[in-house]
Amino acid sequence: MRRLRYLGNEKFIIETVADPIPGPNEVVVSMRVAALCGSDLHIKEQHDVEFAHHPNHVARTPSHEPAGIVSAVGTGVQNVKVGDRVAVYHKVGCMTCESCRAGNLVMCGHGGALSSEYDGAAADLLLVPKENCLPLPDDLGFEDGAIMMCAGGTAYSGLLKARVTSGESVAVFGCGPVGLATIILARAMGAHVFAVDISEARLEMAKRVGANQVFDSSKDVKEDDVYDLIHGFTIPASKTVRKLREMTGGNGVDCVVECSSSAQARINGVDALAQYGRMVLLGISNQFRDHFDFQKSLEPDKLIFKELQVFGSNVFPLHLYDRMVHFMINNRVSFSPMITHRFPLEQGPEAFRTAALATSGKVVITWELHNR
Ligand SMILES: [Zn+2]
Ligand SMILES: [Zn+2]
Repeated sequence: MRRLRYLGNEKFIIETVADPIPGPNEVVVSMRVAALCGSDLHIKEQHDVEFAHHPNHVARTPSHEPAGIVSAVGTGVQNVKVGDRVAVYHKVGCMTCESCRAGNLVMCGHGGALSSEYDGAAADLLLVPKENCLPLPDDLGFEDGAIMMCAGGTAYSGLLKARVTSGESVAVFGCGPVGLATIILARAMGAHVFAVDISEARLEMAKRVGANQVFDSSKDVKEDDVYDLIHGFTIPASKTVRKLREMTGGNGVDCVVECSSSAQARINGVDALAQYGRMVLLGISNQFRDHFDFQKSLEPDKLIFKELQVFGSNVFPLHLYDRMVHFMINNRVSFSPMITHRFPLEQGPEAFRTAALATSGKVVITWELHNR
């Protein structure tokens, strides 16, 4: 089989290696779609640091948003059989700790993930534990199956935490792939969606996937006289906040989904929220280890006075998968409109370069180009 490998210094190769053979409780999936995630770009940057210190460092195969067809199973595999369509959950858990037993593999302290500790999906064949193989109904395409595995699932889980209901307003800050998935799902939940970004191209995409209104915050300025929702006087906030307040009859938005990791967006999110508003934090930068400025970006006093609720949300728990599948099918939701680029595996390096551009939406490696 062929697989994509990162060698550091912006160099990739497509190498040919032996096909994987499944051991007990393992499954080999013939890839149909392997989407690239923002985390793939973060992981690539971390590899560069590793290569600088350890020239013999080996980067795992990238991509942790896989969907395909089961091509081989090891002994003890009963949940899937050869020929089944599957999406592949990318967190690998120990399957014995309390988090894993509850389906929260993402919170396992002893686990890992495809594309970081384990080889990912940018290869003709993917070897995974059986519990990571999730049945993909015929009603959903491989692109949807793949995107559900990280960006889509992250957005869905976040929106459930925020308890978004029909008729509410949702402001999505950051219109990269997670933000675009959030817009698609929030619209399907019946929300009125505002999209905020600093990139014109991404705001165009936000409109295309269904955002009701978009705001360019690239030239955001401080305004000193934004009406305070609690005290009846004016406070300093930003132009973006003023606009969002105006668009919601002065009340502020019911929910904010922060997908950019920008400190300014987090501040805007808090200020734009209505009383009793809910905010979900999904965006994280690769710099969080060095620059932990979270405290600076969320002011506790504002949370207290408006009785806000703030949630962190980390990918999605395995047990949400079936609910998400039913939601997608029953509401005829597809993530395909957020895909801007499709590449065959041999153009994997180009796929990575494209995914790093602020002008791209979702970038996928696909074995299905001829089927489109
Ligand atoms: Zn991801
Ligand atoms: Zn575990």
